[in-house]
Amino acid sequence: MTKKMRRPGLLLVLALFLSSAVPPAAHAQKPAVATVTEDPEFADFVKKATTKPEFLSPLVDHLPKKAGVPSPKDVLGYHIGTEKKLTYVADQQRYFRALEKALPGRVKTEVTGKTEEGRDIMVVYVTSEANLKNLEQNRQNTKRIADPRGLTDAQAQQLIANTKPHYHISAGLHSQETNPPEAVIELAYRLAVSDEPYIKQIRDNVIVSITGATDVDGRDRYVDWYYAYKIDEAYDGGENYGDVPYWGKYVFHDNNRDINYGVDSLRAHLNWYLNWAPPIWHDLHEAQTLLYTFSGQPPQNANLDPILYTELPFFATYEVNKLTSYGMPGVWHFGFVDMWSPGYLGFAAANHNGMLRMYEIFNQGGANTKKARLSGAQTQRQWYRPNPAPAGEVDWSIRNSINYAETGVLTALELTSKFPQMVVENYYKKSANAIKRGADKPPYAFVLAAGQRDQSQVDRVANLLRRQAIEVHRATAEIKTKEGTFPAGSYVVKLNQPYGPLAKTLLEKQTYPDAALTTYDDSAWSMGMASNIDVKTIEDKTILDAPATLLKEDITSLGLLLDPNGAIGANDSVYIVTHNGALNLITLRYRLKDSAIKAAKAAFKVGDREFPAGSLLIPASDRARREIEALGLQALAVTAAPADVPTIDVDLPRLAMYTTWSSTEKPGWVRLAFDRWEIPYDLIHKDHVQAGANLRSKYDVIVMPHQGQNSKSIVYEQPKLSKPLPYKKSDKFTSLGMYAETDDVRGGMGLAGAAEFQKFVEDGGVLLTLGVASYFPADFGIAKGVDAQSPAQGFYAPGPYVNSEILIPTHPTMFGYAQKTLPVRYAGGPLLQAGPPAGAEQFAGTSPERPQVIARFTGGEAGVLSGLMRNPDQIRNRPMVVDAPSGKGRVIMFANNPIYRWQTFGEHAMIFNSILFWNDMPAPSAAAKPAITAGQ
Ligand SMILES: [Zn+2]
Repeated sequence: MTKKMRRPGLLLVLALFLSSAVPPAAHAQKPAVATVTEDPEFADFVKKATTKPEFLSPLVDHLPKKAGVPSPKDVLGYHIGTEKKLTYVADQQRYFRALEKALPGRVKTEVTGKTEEGRDIMVVYVTSEANLKNLEQNRQNTKRIADPRGLTDAQAQQLIANTKPHYHISAGLHSQETNPPEAVIELAYRLAVSDEPYIKQIRDNVIVSITGATDVDGRDRYVDWYYAYKIDEAYDGGENYGDVPYWGKYVFHDNNRDINYGVDSLRAHLNWYLNWAPPIWHDLHEAQTLLYTFSGQPPQNANLDPILYTELPFFATYEVNKLTSYGMPGVWHFGFVDMWSPGYLGFAAANHNGMLRMYEIFNQGGANTKKARLSGAQTQRQWYRPNPAPAGEVDWSIRNSINYAETGVLTALELTSKFPQMVVENYYKKSANAIKRGADKPPYAFVLAAGQRDQSQVDRVANLLRRQAIEVHRATAEIKTKEGTFPAGSYVVKLNQPYGPLAKTLLEKQTYPDAALTTYDDSAWSMGMASNIDVKTIEDKTILDAPATLLKEDITSLGLLLDPNGAIGANDSVYIVTHNGALNLITLRYRLKDSAIKAAKAAFKVGDREFPAGSLLIPASDRARREIEALGLQALAVTAAPADVPTIDVDLPRLAMYTTWSSTEKPGWVRLAFDRWEIPYDLIHKDHVQAGANLRSKYDVIVMPHQGQNSKSIVYEQPKLSKPLPYKKSDKFTSLGMYAETDDVRGGMGLAGAAEFQKFVEDGGVLLTLGVASYFPADFGIAKGVDAQSPAQGFYAPGPYVNSEILIPTHPTMFGYAQKTLPVRYAGGPLLQAGPPAGAEQFAGTSPERPQVIARFTGGEAGVLSGLMRNPDQIRNRPMVVDAPSGKGRVIMFANNPIYRWQTFGEHAMIFNSILFWNDMPAPSAAAKPAITAGQ
């Protein structure tokens, strides 16, 4: 775009207004005839704030000015990209509202939800007056195109011709990536105000919407941290005050990994997306040098329409072309990230037949200008990076980042405005293809059969599919297919629906297309395996006509209280709640915390009815009955507790969860699960385990979630190389000090803390370690006779599902698991070895402290159930769950991560059982299997 083109003279501006076919909006405060000029002060500012001329573009080296419309500076007091200025979300939203007030015909704000901390989530729409008036109709058209069932081709073409492409932009999902939430403020202003022809064309041909801060809570907390510390970071080297310990309430960077939308504020973004169904969602991030635009590199998910993989490079190469032609170095695509996993937030668009677009823009955190040292691949010329970033030292300002972000997005919008119908038509074709594929080609459906051991897990999967707008049917009669017979009540997920490809992606086994390729996140997520339920793939086409009704609302797993003698009555004294692995058993125990609840030590029968070990015996009461039903549990009412059934008391422990300061996110997922299942706990950290802490006097069970990279990172965390960094709430910084507080986030528990953990266990406490945290008790000798090793070279396992074998089914940790083998997600925990090291078997003895292997990985190629694992022999027979008694207590170590994201529901019960039965664990001699199972 030449300067001549983008700066129309006054006559041209007048001509444009005079020739405008757009009638003034009825509710507009003023007709759009005020003259648009340029802001000379901004032109001066941006030149100075940009560190080199080539980091600026002709699209953003000027800013429009229009009487009566506030610029960002008019509201915020500073130009966007001013050194040492970051904008809190409330101020960003204040600006968007001011813009809406000044230009109600072109700008509209919408509060789309609330965050965990009660802040507004906002989307702002910017488009022409005519488009804004037609916004709701355009939304309905878009939704119709997204589900074109029943449209004739002629109707579809008519609809496409009458529908403007909706292009959604999101900023600030990752809170330390500070520039995008700034850039979109100025972007909204430009789009609303400028009368440059290309922007006018964007307004006329595109509906733009912007989420200015996707993790709203995280953005504010990061800005607090920036003003508290990072603003003092030096230009060249010196102290770096890192990142704030928490972003949102639960998760950090994994807010871009919540595949099942377990975090409510992330779900709000999904719900917004599903309501508007924009064909494009463009998510702005910061990492790469200097601007990376995603173009769809392999491995590609074959369930996604090939059209998507032509659209992505179409946009990306146009951006590289334009920005390169402006002389901006370091703009590239390809060679960084794949999108194999469907769990990225913005991937909601690609999952729903739209298009995810993604940028990574260079910045250094915060808003200080700093010296950057650019080197490596990103400074080298490639076919996909013809004008690489300059190697060597360069001053980098946040304004540079904003220039890149805005120039890129304006270019993408300009392209969209040139081909608006193409975008809509592609969206239609992808949606139509999705339906047709499910009707023409096997598999045709997946069935989640009714009558599985734990119906609540089956119901949850159906609800999670529905959460993503996948249609789920329920069989009204028995269904017979080539694959088997399924009872009435089974869930049928037919693939001849717009989101059939997404259903297939989520439910099928992941077959990684090229074992030589790595992937950016998980290689597998198969929902049936994650929930330990059976999901049948149906290739028999008759399934599409099976008698079934569409579920219109979420399933509430209803509990069942039965009485073998008829009505449940006053004579019943005990409810026997079956332990079928249902996760709500622990919720029931906590809701009835004042009841004396017992559990059966072994399986037993009442009449014909079998109850597995761990089934709860609960004193009958109206309250208990209501809770059993509400929680979807299966129970039998009896007049007297069955005789001859040995029981244990189900005592609730005083529970703590240990978190490091340097890795709060993985504990965050466990916090989310504990909150959802109503498990109360104290969140403790290094300050709570200092010498003399006497943990045993306060707690019975401490859960140490997967966190860090190894035991050293858990014990020492971040080294004390800077000044102390308090994380505390103050009048000035109200978002700090939430979820935990400390005078200094650095340093970790140290050896004294590790010794306190040892005392805790020896004094009778139970320590549960998940995933990487299982290095800690092994490396520090807290778990006796257990070694933790790292895999050897050549091992690669990006989150596949693998097979495991339960060796001690009677161990309380495994109550409710009826099968001999169990699919689990491989979590990158240590390779454990329990018992004497190889060659020292003569030292094996009968000590009550010898470890018991409760479950182990089977290993080998046959043990990889879904996704990618290279050299799977390395995990063959390696312990997965080890019960290591020590003194009066024990450590139960999990090499898997039973509470991984909002995802591994089939493994959660191992942790919940270990909490419920913390003081009911058997001595080693009582175990049926030999103590020693070493890896090989
Ligand atoms: Zn990011």
